[in-house]
Amino acid sequence: MTNSTDIRLIVTSGLDAHTELVVPQGETVGGVLGRLPHGVQAVALRVDGVVREVGCTIDGNADIAYVMPDEPDGLALMRHSAAHVLAQALVRIYGDVQLGIGPAIEEGFYYDVLLAEPLSSDALASIEEEMQRIIAEDVPIRRRVVSREEIVAHYEARGDALKLELIAGIPEGVELTVYEQGEFFDLCRGQHVACTGRIGAIKLLHTAGAYWRGDSKRPMLQRIYGTAFATPQALADHVAWLEEAKQRDHRKLGRELKWFTFAGEVGQGLPIWLPRGATVRRTMERYIVDKEQSLGYEHVYTPVLGSVALYQQSGHWDHYADNMFPKMDMDNESLVLRPMNCPHHMMVYKSDLRSYRDLPVRIAELGTMHRYEYSGALTGLHRVRAMTLNDAHIFCRPDQIKDECARVISLIQEVYADFGIDAYRFRLSYRDPANTEKYYPDDAMWDTSQAMLREVVEQLGLEYEEAIGEAAFYGPKLDVQIMTALRKEETLSTVQLDFLLPQKFDLTYVDADGVKRRPVVIHRGVISTMERMTAFLLEHFAGALPTWLSPVHVRVIPVSDAFIDDAQRVVDVCTAQHVRAEADVRNEKLGYKIRHAQQERIPYQFVIGARERDNAAVSVRKRGQGEIGSMPMADAIARIADEIARKRDGSW
Ligand SMILES: [Zn+2]
Ligand SMILES: [Zn+2]
Repeated sequence: MTNSTDIRLIVTSGLDAHTELVVPQGETVGGVLGRLPHGVQAVALRVDGVVREVGCTIDGNADIAYVMPDEPDGLALMRHSAAHVLAQALVRIYGDVQLGIGPAIEEGFYYDVLLAEPLSSDALASIEEEMQRIIAEDVPIRRRVVSREEIVAHYEARGDALKLELIAGIPEGVELTVYEQGEFFDLCRGQHVACTGRIGAIKLLHTAGAYWRGDSKRPMLQRIYGTAFATPQALADHVAWLEEAKQRDHRKLGRELKWFTFAGEVGQGLPIWLPRGATVRRTMERYIVDKEQSLGYEHVYTPVLGSVALYQQSGHWDHYADNMFPKMDMDNESLVLRPMNCPHHMMVYKSDLRSYRDLPVRIAELGTMHRYEYSGALTGLHRVRAMTLNDAHIFCRPDQIKDECARVISLIQEVYADFGIDAYRFRLSYRDPANTEKYYPDDAMWDTSQAMLREVVEQLGLEYEEAIGEAAFYGPKLDVQIMTALRKEETLSTVQLDFLLPQKFDLTYVDADGVKRRPVVIHRGVISTMERMTAFLLEHFAGALPTWLSPVHVRVIPVSDAFIDDAQRVVDVCTAQHVRAEADVRNEKLGYKIRHAQQERIPYQFVIGARERDNAAVSVRKRGQGEIGSMPMADAIARIADEIARKRDGSW
């Protein structure tokens, strides 16, 4: 029998969509959740489309939908609730812990706390156990409005200066709420799951130092990181992935494989390319320069310094100064380290009179640039302050734009095939028509050039997506998006139309009718910066790059000291055929040397003993395939040389 004051909640999603829950007037969201049908493990309710906190009151008939644990909203609620459980566990174990803030983050949660002693890694295990107990207790999480006096008194009694500071920062008149679970409550705006039992599978991951409120003048707190997932399986998958990501991290691989290093004496974010990494870089540089030369690009060298006036003319000085190193004043000149190569290339174009017959002019350079990045943002080779871009600027007539863009796209496709990169997407980046003041003001230019780019990708039959608001200030672009091995989306290559710089630098060509006209500039980068591409390749291939890109192609291993000279001779034959080889002449066991070559991801190992020496043979081991067996040395080397030349690895 339904009471007239009861309310109806129409369930619109979840396991039993379109059923009705009839609940008493004034029911709370937490109360309704407690009454869900068996098997519906919702963590919250969406009432009329909005996720509602557990303690709020549903005050009328409503459409409700379950927020399920495996939805992003549901995960965020579970993780935020897990942060409260972490705080509760810490108070149970340590008593006088001061609690900062504890939000959900992209892949989990953290809590910033101040403890008398730093936590050991053993401590994390016992804190996690206490959290498991609190989750098993399955106590309701209730929202409660509190007065400022009450909450201040509570934290004063606990001696929690961090919370008191947070409260002091909340303006008078703002409703203060706490979320209560068992003996513990936490100052919080919400939102949370209905009871601790709905938190799912949790794990504490690690701790790190974090300044209170990100301010280096404030005390250093301990940030405890953890994560929560709907099921133990999802959690286990995530933990396995974290381990994989750690193994693939280019900073770790770069250190282990000795590709690059950083030195405080040199400066932050300024990579030092060690011989191995430098070999990879030089291989990429030679490859792309040769490739570009075969496609009509002309390579130049321009200085890493430029005058402030140059960057004022280009507009970078006004829009990009935050990312530039400060200027240097000397000899009546103001110079800056260039953050981009474009203005220098404008000067290359201007160095000569250009006729319509000369176009397109394709100016390319491995251009070294310097950008100021916050020290906190510097990440291995991925975010650096000195970088070298595979840069080019194509100066062309408007009627050549489509053809030039198509040529760049096919170059990108060839390069990716040679690098073994097969998963990438094309993205057309347009201006946001609702926000036109952010862009170069010329509606007709935008309409034509955006349509032009779209036509090019459609004529090439490429699949693409369109991104509104991702254009550059000066024109639309075609970006090539890749997903890195660490699951971050990145732009690796880009083709950008620019109608503005030619104006700013007053670039012209003499057209067929004798009239001076403006060329269009296409900025394009194919293999990105050497730094970024190297970081990408290290992670993508977990250090095992395709043979042609590997710093060492062959490690020659003598079975004993008696064969060192023979090994060296094999190295010489390899080198003569442009196969990069080196001998391992250390006084170590054969098995150790083989394992070491594997750890270094060297594609081929030649083992040399008496039988090999007597038969001009090598015993081949191949990365990923293991023992191949003995074969004539000349054949083995020719085969590797062929793989390098074709840039394709084969199975033997
Ligand atoms: Zn909270
Ligand atoms: Zn440019």
